[in-house]
Amino acid sequence: MRIEIIGSGVVGLSCAAVFAELGHDVTIISQSKGPDDSCCSWWAGGMLAPWCEMESAEPLIGELGVESMEFWSRFSSGHYIQRGTLVVAPARDLPDLKRFGRRTENWKKVSAEEISELEPALAGRFQSGLFYPSEAHFDPRKILQALEDFLRNKAVHFQYNRSLEDADLQTPTEADFRIDCRGLAAQKELPDLRGVKGEMVLIQSDEIQLNRPIRLLHPRIPLYVVPRDNGVFMIGATMIENEERSRASVRSILELLSAAYALHPGFGEAEILEIGVDARPAFPDNLPAIIQAGSTIYVNGMYRHGYLAAPAVAALTADLIMQGYPSVREDRKSLISIGHNSRGPQRCASV
Ligand SMILES: Cc1cc2nc3c(=O)[nH]c(=O)nc-3n(C[C@H](O)[C@H](O)[C@H](O)COP(=O)(O)OP(=O)(O)OC[C@H]3O[C@@H](n4cnc5c(N)ncnc54)[C@H](O)[C@@H]3O)c2cc1C
Repeated sequence: MRIEIIGSGVVGLSCAAVFAELGHDVTIISQSKGPDDSCCSWWAGGMLAPWCEMESAEPLIGELGVESMEFWSRFSSGHYIQRGTLVVAPARDLPDLKRFGRRTENWKKVSAEEISELEPALAGRFQSGLFYPSEAHFDPRKILQALEDFLRNKAVHFQYNRSLEDADLQTPTEADFRIDCRGLAAQKELPDLRGVKGEMVLIQSDEIQLNRPIRLLHPRIPLYVVPRDNGVFMIGATMIENEERSRASVRSILELLSAAYALHPGFGEAEILEIGVDARPAFPDNLPAIIQAGSTIYVNGMYRHGYLAAPAVAALTADLIMQGYPSVREDRKSLISIGHNSRGPQRCASV
């Protein structure tokens, strides 16, 4: 089958990988110049945290996340780091830690001593925490590149620097299916899609070493710090109901940096490398959707779970195309909408 994929963010590349592995003839068309900062996927933290995310997400997201981890461990060997996640809170916010634990699973409580064994840099800083040993993380920018390398080896065709305009999108594709993975840019066709602004900071510190993502529960910004190579840390991320994709506010950056300072005062001496902003594509229920309109299939709405869940959502898209809606797993059908009055949630009345 000939499959045309629009967009080269994590969703487009994951779909391409799944279809290429099934032996289809895949072409990716993207206005990006390659894996670059023009897509939301560039700015992500790269946490694969299906159990922590259950604190605020539907159980289905956790299931899709666990399924996707198998894909990532295969595709990103050398980049995929499975050392778990540590969740801590300042002494005054310990009730928040208990609440976090009640809403999630697959964790063990860790004492101050165990925290210092896991993360010597945090020795003496927190009385207790929650450790999620099965979670993983990676550097999303390296992953986008690794996926592209894999796809080129599979003879996937790339048409970068090509923006499909309205007229192109309305012209039926010559491929058997067009999979539209344009993220927030597909708002015109998917009017329920909204942006949730996320700001992040990249810093570098030679003083502090962390082995895994740390989440600091904080009343206003639940902060996370994800370690990358060469003393670089990603500090994220704000969640603001706003579609603005380029302007970071002083308040947000102050809050992110002061929360990092609360995690470890040594971050006060770190160098700021980058401040990044983008808007996560999200539907009203914050769940992904696969929306079929004839030979076009929109895969969108990954919200804060693009890396966490895109591979499983891509596999579901392949099931829909290859086997048809009736064969799709019953508990996944709610993610799929067909045409106007869909069988799934009617997220996209105008398609
Ligand atoms: C600060 C921040 C931190 C995050 N952290 C995490 C995290 O730790 N874990 C996680 O799982 N998720 C995280 N996310 C969410 C994740 O980044 C998104 O869910 C994901 O990037 C959405 O991917 P996408 O492929 O749908 O969209 P995008 O990455 O935006 O890709 C869209 C693609 O479509 C192309 N395109 C657009 N219009 C056209 C056109 N007209 N013609 C051709 N091509 C077009 C673009 O060039 C781009 O290549 C984070 C997000 C933010 C902002």
